This record gives sequence, structure tokens and C-alpha cells, in this order.
Amino acid sequence: METQLTWYGQSAFKIITPAGNVLLIDPWLTNPVFEKGKDEAAALERVDLILVTHGHADHVGNAVEIGKRTRAKLVATYDLSAAMTTVLGYPTDLANTDTTGHFGGTLKLLDSEVSVTFVPAWHGTAVEKDGNSPPYYGGNPSGLIVAIRGGPTFYHTGDTDLFSDMALVSRFNKIDIMLVCIGDHFTMGPVRAAEAVKLVAPRTVIPMHYGTFPVLTGTPEMFNRELKQRHVKADLRVMKIGQTIKLSE
Ligand SMILES: [Zn+2]
Repeated sequence: METQLTWYGQSAFKIITPAGNVLLIDPWLTNPVFEKGKDEAAALERVDLILVTHGHADHVGNAVEIGKRTRAKLVATYDLSAAMTTVLGYPTDLANTDTTGHFGGTLKLLDSEVSVTFVPAWHGTAVEKDGNSPPYYGGNPSGLIVAIRGGPTFYHTGDTDLFSDMALVSRFNKIDIMLVCIGDHFTMGPVRAAEAVKLVAPRTVIPMHYGTFPVLTGTPEMFNRELKQRHVKADLRVMKIGQTIKLSE
């Protein structure tokens, strides 16, 4: 079986591995631009891992409700995992040492079919129970390298600015698919995102974190222009919200 990738809008993705394991990254399915988000979240029966890059609500999203229902394990840095269990109520038995790590470390998960490496991101991580509660410490935000055995290696940037150490990501992992934020305002916009792609040199790049709110003004067209200007070789693949694509090794 090939690896399948679904985009739900913002930074939310589902990956189904060749062995049939189901991973969610930053699972905010009930976002303003995914009409079927509520139904899709309720229809998810099997989820093995929920990976979260940082504690902001547009990334934690529906993680807790989906985790409770499907018994998916939480994959996050130590501090975020602690905040998500104590503040947001993610079940503690699903957020233990096997799936909790930190920068530079690689976790071998699901009989080593999936490896996850935490890498830095330049952003914030306030964890908030609701709009009226004070923010809780959630550690440093992360990007994620997700390597699938017999499938592609993904780099999900999380929310971040451009930083030169992104070049180190591909020194240790050949990145096939880079999932990159382009929306501007809270993260890189198209110009800085194009520079990030140049540093990482993936085979394919898929833009995310744009168009969800009016302030996220970066577009795939602007991003494409910036990539072309820099003669970046990566294939730009623009996904539709709710679309699933198949990916070879
Ligand atoms: Zn965000």
C-alpha cells in the first residue's frame, strides 16, 4: 500500500502508512474552512498517534476529543505533553514516555514503522483551556520530521519563521515532502517560506497555514512566484481542503 496524506486545512493532516497505521498532525478539523470538519472528526475510528507541534488552539484543535475516543497516543515534546494532559485533559495513560520526546531525539513508534524527530520552530506555545483562561507554559514549539518505513519522509514545519538551521533538517534526513506554513502574520509568508524550502531542498512542497482567517494572506500563487524566482527545484503541490493524495516512497 502507498502512504496516504489528507489535508484538513490550516496545519492539520492525516497520514495513513503502508501498514495501515493512522497519524494525525495538529488535528484542528473543526476549522473555519473545512465544512465537513465536525463529521470527519466524529467519523475517525482508528487513530494510532496524534502529533502536535505546539499548544496554540489552531494546532491542538480536536486532539483531546479524538484522543479520548480513539485511544490515540499523544506525540509531543515533554512540556507540551505535560500541559495537554494537565490543562486540557488529554488522557495521561496515552501520553507517556514512549511517545514524548524533545529536540534532537528520534522516537521509533508503531513497531518502528514511524520515526518522529522533534526539531525547533520559532514561535510561541501558550496552552489555553479556553478564551478566558490564562495561558499555560507549553515549552518551545516544534517542527516534526516524520519518516515512514517504505514511504516518504515528511517535514512539518509547525508554525515558524525562517531560520538558517532549517538547513540541518536535511543533513540527517532526506526530506521528500515539506509541509510549510506560508500564511504570513503569525508565521512565515510566501517570501520567507520560499527561502525555507531552498534551505531544506525537499522533493515536494505542500503549503499550509493560509486562508483560514483573513489575516493569513499568503497564497499558493504568491508562494509559487517566490519559489520560481529562486529557481527552487521542489515540486509545488497545492492540496484542496479535505483532499487525499497517495505518495510513493
Ligand atoms: Zn497556527
